[in-house]
Amino acid sequence: METLRTLPGDDVRQIMWRFADRFDLQMAVQSARAIARSVVARLVADGVRHSHEWNDRKAEILEAFDASGLTAIYMDLEQGGFIDGPKNLAMSLVAFELAWVDGGAATCSLAGCLALAPIHERGTPEQRNYYMSRCVPPPPGEDREPLRGAFALTEPIPYVGVDTGILVGKVSVAEWNDGAEPVLQVEKRGRFITNMDFAGFVTAAVDTNDERIKTSCMVILEENDPGLFDRGAPTLKMVHQLSSTRDPVISLTVPASRIIGGYTVEDGVIVPNYSHGEIIAAVFNRTRIPVGLMTSAKLLSAIEPVIRYQRGRFRGGDAVLPGSPRYELGLQMNEDAQQRLLDVWATGEAGASLGFEAARLFDVLDPLERRKDEIFAEQGVVGMRRQMTALRKVQNDVLEYLEMSGKSDRDEERFKALEADELVRYVLLDSEAGVLCPACKLWNTGYGATMMREAVSLMGGYGITEDCPGFLGHKWMDAQLEATYEGPEAVQRRHLTVTMASPVFLARLGQWMEELEDIESNRPGMGAQTLAAAMRLWRWTHKHLQKAKDSEGKRLYHGKRHGVTFPLADAVCWLLGSRSLILDVLELREKGPLNPVVAEGLEGLVSFYTDVCRVQAARAAGEVGRVCADLVFGYNDGAGQNFEGAEEFSRLRLELDASLAGARSAKDRAAKALTGVMIPEALDYPL
Ligand SMILES: Cc1cc2nc3c(=O)[nH]c(=O)nc-3n(C[C@H](O)[C@H](O)[C@H](O)COP(=O)(O)OP(=O)(O)OC[C@H]3O[C@@H](n4cnc5c(N)ncnc54)[C@H](O)[C@@H]3O)c2cc1C
Repeated sequence: METLRTLPGDDVRQIMWRFADRFDLQMAVQSARAIARSVVARLVADGVRHSHEWNDRKAEILEAFDASGLTAIYMDLEQGGFIDGPKNLAMSLVAFELAWVDGGAATCSLAGCLALAPIHERGTPEQRNYYMSRCVPPPPGEDREPLRGAFALTEPIPYVGVDTGILVGKVSVAEWNDGAEPVLQVEKRGRFITNMDFAGFVTAAVDTNDERIKTSCMVILEENDPGLFDRGAPTLKMVHQLSSTRDPVISLTVPASRIIGGYTVEDGVIVPNYSHGEIIAAVFNRTRIPVGLMTSAKLLSAIEPVIRYQRGRFRGGDAVLPGSPRYELGLQMNEDAQQRLLDVWATGEAGASLGFEAARLFDVLDPLERRKDEIFAEQGVVGMRRQMTALRKVQNDVLEYLEMSGKSDRDEERFKALEADELVRYVLLDSEAGVLCPACKLWNTGYGATMMREAVSLMGGYGITEDCPGFLGHKWMDAQLEATYEGPEAVQRRHLTVTMASPVFLARLGQWMEELEDIESNRPGMGAQTLAAAMRLWRWTHKHLQKAKDSEGKRLYHGKRHGVTFPLADAVCWLLGSRSLILDVLELREKGPLNPVVAEGLEGLVSFYTDVCRVQAARAAGEVGRVCADLVFGYNDGAGQNFEGAEEFSRLRLELDASLAGARSAKDRAAKALTGVMIPEALDYPL
């Protein structure tokens, strides 16, 4: 039987992650890779990560980004960018490539976009065009420094962190002359602010400290505004040392036109069009995806160095002759060494599939969101609250649409009308995106960090040295920051507690189960049946916990009851990652034959990936089964199986267990494939 010949290359990835027809994205990937494996790898190898201070060597990264065009990745064509349309997939691919070598370098690239994101998502057209185009490096002949930014939400203890509402940063009116634009006094202290060494502007979250300003907002602060712009002390971080992080202290006066998204004046009061909370929700929804992908990149980057290490180990000794199993396979003679590496690979693979699916989804959602705003503006539905109420009404249409979509005897005219309705489409995709984004941030980074430790362990003592090939020790530590910044795991779990319970998402999950059953019939062996069974068990448990009570009669499914909702949130992530991977492998199977490079060796590659899908589905199902049983029985004090639906639960659980038939054999096969796969003689970046 054919199996894996080589590690998947660019052509394979372009198909799986759906950018085979996007030359612009392929170019961005190549640019990022060239920088990662030369400038960045050299800095890491030279020990430049050893200092907390920003320095000229670290600044080489920014120069390389400028020269390659990557600094402009986030900009529209008219602002000096080179990618047309939404850029979520583009930024995700770039972050993935950079993090393949070093997470700090990837953060350096992302942080500039994060600083612009509030302006990009909610800024006025003037703010957008001004700041986005000034952040583009100057074309030849133009003499100016590119503007760089920082995003300042987090504040010194005991203020903003996970809780984004406790702001010590304040805005008040400094001067407001009749008929003139108000001048604002802004006080902001930041903690752990990335890019702060060289930021020329800061997008800062501040609360109102003046009855003439109605709500909190975000403001743009420039280094040359009148007042104090102190970059503050460097953060003594142990990770991501190739990015700049400081605790700035800022006290400036700025014109009110710097309020992001603008404002109106009502009865002598400045009313910002967006509160800081509304802006950061829109920002993080997008920027968290590349962060999730950074950790997945590290896991996948570990495969080649670990295989090389394993094969070359224990070749010494007179009795070990070339051609002998010990000489050729080294540590790979041991089943455990093969299988643990496979687990690392499968985790990286599922995380990447989930993250790139989320990024693509936001690329579709972005223009739809703008259309939604236009439609509401035409209808006179203004303000977030009124929009939310209007969208809740659309939800019923979405549910009707989902209900009809699986039926052959439907009212075709009504179905077509719903399908063509942009608001229906928006609500549907938004509910999916609201789960995929936090799931990718939570699972890819959190479980990814755990699996990165596993990768480190496969290198023995070498793993925890600085010269470990592939910089795996650094990557393990760095993964913890990816799990923390832009909202640590608790934030993502809280978010999922709400979004995964939405009726639209639950209905969509039902659709996915049916699709997986179809996949199982047409393409058995991928674990689709197992995944569908795990989804059924999760959905049953979720529903059960909505009405179940603990022994004191208190509700179980409740935002404050993290012991119930957080494990369910973790479980849903396992389901999503496994599903995304299956879909990507189906794509590879379908489109691979059309690409001559991929077609060569495709049979073996697909059969390997089919087994990887099954391994991951089994792992996901195991996790889901454990979480569900724990929650269903764990609060059922002293009552054993005596609860409503006990029989149904047992049936679903048994169905799940039985669907695991063959999963371990698939794991044996896939792990064995790692012993035969060809790898290059040496890693393509320096040590
Ligand atoms: C290197 C680095 C760079 C950064 N860059 C930036 C930047 O550019 N801009 C910026 O604004 N911020 C930045 N941050 C800040 C980062 O986003 C925060 O550290 C992060 O969001 C968590 O906030 P905190 O550290 O204050 O944790 P805390 O709020 O103190 O939370 C600590 C822990 O308590 C638990 N917890 C807290 N609240 C809850 C809750 N309600 N429910 C359950 N559990 C809870 C969680 O386990 C959480 O991880 C950066 C941080 C670092 C380390």
